[in-house]
Amino acid sequence: MINHSCDVLIVGGGMVGLCLAHQLLERKITTSITLLDKEPELGRHSSGRNSGVLHAGLYYKPGSVKAHVCVGGGRRLRAWVQERGLPLNTCGKVIVPPRPELDGQLDVLAERGTANGATVELWDEKQLRELIPEARTSSGRALWSPNTAVVKPIAVLRELQQELLDRGVAFITGQAAWTAEPELRQLRLSDGGTISYGHLINCAGLQADRVAHLFGVGHNYTLLPFKGLYWQLKRSCPIQPRANLYPVPDLNVPFLGVHFTPSADATPVVSIGPTATPAWGRENYRGLQALEPAMAAANLTVLARQYLANRGGFRRYVHEQAFLALPPLLLQAAQQLIPSVRAEHLELSQKVGIRSQLFNSRTQRLEDDFLCLTGHASTHVLNAISPAFTASFALADLILDEAAPRMDLA
Ligand SMILES: Cc1cc2nc3c(=O)[nH]c(=O)nc-3n(C[C@H](O)[C@H](O)[C@H](O)COP(=O)(O)OP(=O)(O)OC[C@H]3O[C@@H](n4cnc5c(N)ncnc54)[C@H](O)[C@@H]3O)c2cc1C
Repeated sequence: MINHSCDVLIVGGGMVGLCLAHQLLERKITTSITLLDKEPELGRHSSGRNSGVLHAGLYYKPGSVKAHVCVGGGRRLRAWVQERGLPLNTCGKVIVPPRPELDGQLDVLAERGTANGATVELWDEKQLRELIPEARTSSGRALWSPNTAVVKPIAVLRELQQELLDRGVAFITGQAAWTAEPELRQLRLSDGGTISYGHLINCAGLQADRVAHLFGVGHNYTLLPFKGLYWQLKRSCPIQPRANLYPVPDLNVPFLGVHFTPSADATPVVSIGPTATPAWGRENYRGLQALEPAMAAANLTVLARQYLANRGGFRRYVHEQAFLALPPLLLQAAQQLIPSVRAEHLELSQKVGIRSQLFNSRTQRLEDDFLCLTGHASTHVLNAISPAFTASFALADLILDEAAPRMDLA
């Protein structure tokens, strides 16, 4: 039976939790850190199942938390990966308008990127074709982001976990059934053991709202899960884009649209995706695994209301993205970027992730930015959506700027 005590207990060993442990050490806030995860090994959820793109910071409204942490966080993570010799594909990214009326969005993205401190260039069709000969732009223009890169997320997680272990951080894994006793500043484990803490940080990703509720925090917030399936170009396919190729996104919805991403392998595998379809469970990665019918029904009701009210242009998301899990529609979306892609070039990837999107029942809106709530001796990171992987070192610093002064450590 575990009876453990620490200054800071981090719940959730994804990229956000690991980076918080790292920055607690770097900033010398404490060395008594424990990381608790419900899974037997790290990387089973979003941080181990994402596209691995280190975003350059073009999409986010200047002044938002995302904008603030993405550029700096991305640079730090890229340098960290390079210093350790981990796989990194410095291939850049090009964004194209699939329809002529979306051309103006390139200027919006260029302005946002520049305001956020990212490097961007507006390109003509010739420049686009020099990079990806088969790519198409409907308006003759494209936006080039040279600093977008791709990593192998699992390799990053493994390396960071090992470094934290070497520096004395304790990991308690495979503990899913625990109850919170916030007034006593402790968790009670299923076998009767306890973990006592000075301060708790909740970074439980897809379950972060449920964990927050155990501490009496954020009852007006619920996470809506969206499944992200990936396809990939077969090795035999003659088209192999050597940079990320994205459509101009609808900046009102939290998904970037189906895109081509070359992996950070020595011979890159080009994935196409992820889709963004309402999921039947927060961890329903395959078939009937971890189905939550009641949750799915409640979420579909919320989404139907969003559709009717068309908040934030939600109808456009439904029309353009909600059904992309259907292969013919995914192929159509891919052909808007590369018209010569054919069904026989594609195969389903093993990779699948689920994105958590926070819904605020008080305002009836999807939350667009990162959100951090405070509780008794606790901090709750509720909306660590993309680009939280990219931004994780800088996001951890921002969370600690607020939380560290509240930490009443012995
Ligand atoms: C398909 C997809 C593609 C994406 N692409 C990108 C990208 O290219 N670039 C980018 O920057 N971001 C991307 N993202 C977003 C990025 O992956 C996430 O923002 C980031 O990984 C969130 O990290 P996290 O630590 O908050 O959550 P997670 O990685 O989900 O970690 C949460 C951890 O909490 C644990 N946990 C949950 N409940 C409990 C509990 N009760 N007790 C103990 N432990 C618990 C889980 O086991 C898990 O290990 C993508 C996400 C998805 C799903």
